Amino acid sequence: MNKRLLEINTNLIVYNTVSKNENRDCSDYIANLLDPLGFEVKRDSFQDKHGVNKEQIIASIGPDCDGGLILSGHIDTVPFENQKGWTRDALKLQLEDDKFYGRGTCDMKVFIGQCLSTAEELALDKLKKPLHFVFTADEEVGCLGAKRLSDNFSEILKRKSLPKRAIIGEPTSFNIINTHKGIAHFSILIHGVGGHSSRPDRGMNAIEGLGDIIQAVKELNEKFKREMNEELRNIFPDFPYNHLHMAMVNGGLALNMIPETVELALSYRSFPNEDPKRVLNELMEKTKDFKNIEYKNLFLTPGMPISLNEELEKVLKAEFSKNKTESVSFATDGGYIKMLGIETYICGPGDIKEAHTPNEFISVNDFYKGADHIKNICNQLLF
Ligand SMILES: [Zn+2]
Repeated sequence: MNKRLLEINTNLIVYNTVSKNENRDCSDYIANLLDPLGFEVKRDSFQDKHGVNKEQIIASIGPDCDGGLILSGHIDTVPFENQKGWTRDALKLQLEDDKFYGRGTCDMKVFIGQCLSTAEELALDKLKKPLHFVFTADEEVGCLGAKRLSDNFSEILKRKSLPKRAIIGEPTSFNIINTHKGIAHFSILIHGVGGHSSRPDRGMNAIEGLGDIIQAVKELNEKFKREMNEELRNIFPDFPYNHLHMAMVNGGLALNMIPETVELALSYRSFPNEDPKRVLNELMEKTKDFKNIEYKNLFLTPGMPISLNEELEKVLKAEFSKNKTESVSFATDGGYIKMLGIETYICGPGDIKEAHTPNEFISVNDFYKGADHIKNICNQLLF
């Protein structure tokens, strides 16, 4: 048992780093742990769109040369308050039945804790190549911290040699992921004309307009399915075609009123090598003659095109006894990190099935083994 790993993760879970909150107490803890080890710690502070202060930690150690490695994870978590099903304190690391429970155990503070405890164990003064930690904020609300980094990473890092490879320790059950989809969401507002429901002839029912949109979405989804090709079937065997997901409808005020507006919220997963707006554009084209509709609130997170760094991939396959790389359909900071020309693999402890759930947990095995894996990978690549 690695006591220090347990201690660090016990501390990390206590900080309430739900994305809407300030995270300074947690980033301080991380920075204060890395600073005495000799890391150059940069704090990337910013205010989110609600005016809340956020901080990301970028920490580097070792010579300023090529061949370095980034280990990356996000500090923030999804909410737990008002999530039905919690029977434990979400902010307390609790061990029971070979599982460590708590918000962020699986997704993904434990990986950060594993990086930190490994940093304390490595012979850092003997590093031949640099090690960088990139711990981001606001990943769970659209990878906004990583987006910031993609704009000014070299400025923050202030090194001559920029790292070319990264591991993001999102929960993949130690499967090696080299590509993933992006996500887009937006909504359509349908305008009608309100009035008393006893005189429908005087108004225009927005819900009737919604019906036409739903029909258009269903027809497009059929088309996307027909367009599925062999290449996508190979890369994303789980779901190899686009699909517009109708997620939420909001409209109408009372039984005796004609609904004036209806809002339909949609999302879709974009493939990493296509225009992330492609699906949206097709829907807009298909509905261009529809009257009184308005597209709004578009938000895009890019996918991660296939990464390849032969040395890193070889080490990962040997370390995790895998003979292949895989894809996933969820988005990560990897879309933005890859934009920097950094070959990025998603590979970490925990099962994605347990992420975002009430009573989130990580297995004791993944909790302890993950730290050993990080140590082995660093020892092979950086010393
Ligand atoms: Zn995550």
